[in-house]
Amino acid sequence: MSHVIGIDLGTTYSCVAVFTNGQAQVIPNKTGYKTTPSIVAVTESGRRLVGQMAKRQAITNARHTVYATKRLIGRKWSSPQVVRAIETCTYEIVRGPHDDVRVKARGKMYSVPEVAGMVLQEMKIVAEEFLGEEITEAVITVPAYFNDSQRQATKDAGRIAGMDVLRIINEPTAAALAYGFGKDLDRTLAVYDLGGGTFDISILTMKNGVFDVLASGGDSFLGGEDFDARIIEHLAFGFAREHSVDLRHDTMALQRLKDAAEKAKCELSEANQTDINLPFIFTGEGNEALHLQTELTREQLEDLCIDLVERTFRICSQVLEDAGLGRTEIDDVVLVGGQTRMPLVQRSAESFFSRTPKKDVHPDEVVALGAAIQAASLSGKTAEVLLLDITPHSLGIMVFGGGFEVIIERNTTVPTEASRIFTTVKDNQTSVKILVLQGESDRAEDNDLLGEFVFEGLRPAPAGEVELEVTFSISADGIVSVSARDLETGKAKSITVTATTGLTEDEIQKMIEENRDYLLDIRHSEEVEAKRAAIRRTIREVEKLLPVVKEFLLSSNLGSDTLAKATKLLKNAKQDIDTKDVAELGRDDEALQRTLSVFQGIAQRMA
Ligand code: AMP
Repeated sequence: MSHVIGIDLGTTYSCVAVFTNGQAQVIPNKTGYKTTPSIVAVTESGRRLVGQMAKRQAITNARHTVYATKRLIGRKWSSPQVVRAIETCTYEIVRGPHDDVRVKARGKMYSVPEVAGMVLQEMKIVAEEFLGEEITEAVITVPAYFNDSQRQATKDAGRIAGMDVLRIINEPTAAALAYGFGKDLDRTLAVYDLGGGTFDISILTMKNGVFDVLASGGDSFLGGEDFDARIIEHLAFGFAREHSVDLRHDTMALQRLKDAAEKAKCELSEANQTDINLPFIFTGEGNEALHLQTELTREQLEDLCIDLVERTFRICSQVLEDAGLGRTEIDDVVLVGGQTRMPLVQRSAESFFSRTPKKDVHPDEVVALGAAIQAASLSGKTAEVLLLDITPHSLGIMVFGGGFEVIIERNTTVPTEASRIFTTVKDNQTSVKILVLQGESDRAEDNDLLGEFVFEGLRPAPAGEVELEVTFSISADGIVSVSARDLETGKAKSITVTATTGLTEDEIQKMIEENRDYLLDIRHSEEVEAKRAAIRRTIREVEKLLPVVKEFLLSSNLGSDTLAKATKLLKNAKQDIDTKDVAELGRDDEALQRTLSVFQGIAQRMA
């Protein structure tokens, strides 16, 4: 049975891990790094680049390099987060056919799950090359605060990447699992997870191998990217004051600012001051080169970002209240996510919880490790671990007058389900429409609409006579489903779901096929290139030995046949080199290789 991998699909970086020989381990990519940038680019020739290769060319190909799509996944076109992303992004964000978000690169429109799928596929390939086997199943992590649409879209991304997603698990829960797995701990834990794009806080208990989440909260649009944005604003403002030019309107300059901002931010986690040098960042009106040269101190950075950090701790207070615990009742504080390396975050966490956060977890790797443990548990490769997770959002329906009636409260352990009886309100009404939403506002319109569920085929009867039992379920993945039963006949009722931003099954299938074809195409091109390179090498070597061999064969009167054959093979190989037929290229190379070994034998005898 092949391995099931665990993938932490991060906003800025992704990480893949596997459980082997009794423990979880992170798998390094080809370049030896344990994390891979969650970046996809399309080059001028239409080639897709993912990870480090995409990051490396981001400045020169900024318009067609797509990053941080996790901030867009499962969101509606009109949501405020998408509006904010459009303002600051260097790539093109466009409206999709389901009022969803799509990105455009080299004239082609891609759905967000498709782009996330390309990153997941890269992680799959990293694991396949390391393990030497095909990977078909995975556990993927998401921020605990992700809603149903975001979870569903992440699951779709996994399918587009060619994997069965056995389970979607929450990042802080995965981190807790990696922290506590195999240890006999009885602790109450706070996992504070501040990554590139999202913030989560989960409070959970660990005892006898049971991980029980008491409460979760977060903000799925708050992370390292926002810290970078503050630095970008600061730098752009300083530059505008000096040169009256807003660098953010120039795609390449903005991409360079973005890279410099992140670099400066990371350096200021170690140093108190750093220089920012961006020569030739802009060409002024008189064609003169303008440079950005400045310095940034840790204190300035902290002033720029303090409100972002404070926002995370306001959420922590709410989540502690939801869990019914005081700050001092937390035994261990675990910091997860690259942004928690910032000293301000660490100091604030220590002061908020009145204890030093645990240093023995790797903030970039712990989530993938937890996913790999869960993957092993689900596939029977290790003892079952019991994760009792919760839904972070209340689930409910719109009621008369635009109100929101909660059906499943937030922080309820999943899987869970709840039923409600609905009756017809008009005579001869044959269908019922229910608007299902997630959120905490009393007003339906302020919450996230998951879908409109229309139940059809009811018996025409006077108002109030037909009763329909509707069951709302939330799976262990945190994904919502709705089913209905006609109470009179006991029969299940058909449901039509509308108003979701998700992809249709047909679209997903098409994307799966396109992705598979693209990969096959790339693999084929790589194979062709490798074969061509091998033939060129063989041709060179045969041609190098040809004069010596010719001299020997002619002088010994043995040669005309062998020489004619060799000349013919060389001619064939040169003629065929442009073919894409791997088998033909292989045949040419093999035939030439045989000639080469004869030539080498002769050359040796002559030496
Ligand atoms: P993650 O999503 O967990 O991979 O976190 C990525 C975020 O962590 C990015 O915004 C990085 O810029 C940020 N990050 C990584 N290393 C550091 C560091 N040394 N100091 C501050 N932020 C960092």
